Amino acid sequence: MNKQHVAAPEGVHTLRDPDSGLEGLIVLHSTALGPAAGGCRLLHYQDASLMQADAFRLAEGMSYKNALAGLPMGGGKAVIRLPQGTFSRHELFRAFGRAVDALGGRYITAEDVGTSVEDMQAVSEKTRFVAGLPSGAGGPGGDPSPWTAQGVFVSMETLVRRHLSGDLSDCVVAVQGLGHVGRSLARMLHEAGARLLVADISEQNVRRLVAETGATVVPADQILSVEADVLAPCALGAIFDEASIGTIRARIICGAANNQLATPGDGARLAARGILYAPDYVVNAGGIINVAGEYFGWTEKDTQRRVADTGNRLIRVLDHASATGVAPNQAADELARATIAAGPSPFRADSAL
Ligand code: NAD
Repeated sequence: MNKQHVAAPEGVHTLRDPDSGLEGLIVLHSTALGPAAGGCRLLHYQDASLMQADAFRLAEGMSYKNALAGLPMGGGKAVIRLPQGTFSRHELFRAFGRAVDALGGRYITAEDVGTSVEDMQAVSEKTRFVAGLPSGAGGPGGDPSPWTAQGVFVSMETLVRRHLSGDLSDCVVAVQGLGHVGRSLARMLHEAGARLLVADISEQNVRRLVAETGATVVPADQILSVEADVLAPCALGAIFDEASIGTIRARIICGAANNQLATPGDGARLAARGILYAPDYVVNAGGIINVAGEYFGWTEKDTQRRVADTGNRLIRVLDHASATGVAPNQAADELARATIAAGPSPFRADSAL
């Protein structure tokens, strides 16, 4: 998302419950396409203005991601300040659940940085407007990361076919970060016959992946500039700036990490170097599609079909970029805003509750 464009949200709700230590915000950026959906982040914030800025930016990002994923959902986000000293996590998230419930379904919460399935179970004691709970037999729900990895994988497959006229089995793919998403993605790439170059600052994660796939290990500070066909960032945000972009040797960037560009202008910088950048929030939407599937009660097959369609949605963004002469990140932002402005379509309505 273009970080310089943070539109005014529809609603901002203060969270305050002295008994449990709850302090934070729920930001409803947009409910134009459906209930505002986005995870709940539990973090140590230095002050209230930083927490608010983070919540506004993340909520707008969710509106864009959900709109381009074709979901009948708007965008929102909850941020909770990590309480000082000892506190009951269970009571904290029950109090948060009460606040979510008071919004009457205008906001749907789930896990995000710092929160877990157990936390969402505590939330679910107080509200039904929550996802990210343990999945039922074969249905969507639970850990979203394998779904996120699947969306990145199909996007990469699509790009390799279209832009390198080849197949993943002909490719060298460099994966930065072997956590939940990176590990799943690396396994899928290995099964597809790709040659893997991998890096993580966790030796344990590296060892585990090498044992599973025989991948070649690269020092963490060199992974962005290795010679590869595709670079898949699955760790940190803000990794592509003027300095790092000058060193990239991959032809395609397609990974799960959120907010990979340090500034919107870095998208144009990548394009000027002839590097094809797949906008992060377009290709990493598999997790929120899984959340939508769980919340709306879609079958696993239907949810999987929507994740598998990520490659086609990416092509629409890249075609818009080519047709209008803008970088892919800008094309994604433009299409997302247009989708939100157009409101719900019949194709979305059939998926809503
Ligand atoms: P994770 O915490 O499980 O994994 C991140 C991995 O990156 C860890 O193994 C960590 O050691 C490694 N890492 C950190 N700094 C590194 C560095 N400098 N070099 C190399 N490795 C480094 O997180 P995750 O759930 O796998 O998510 C990965 C990224 O994808 C994040 O940016 C996240 O916001 C984004 N994302 C995740 C999901 C999801 O479903 N989990 C959905 C959308 C977006």
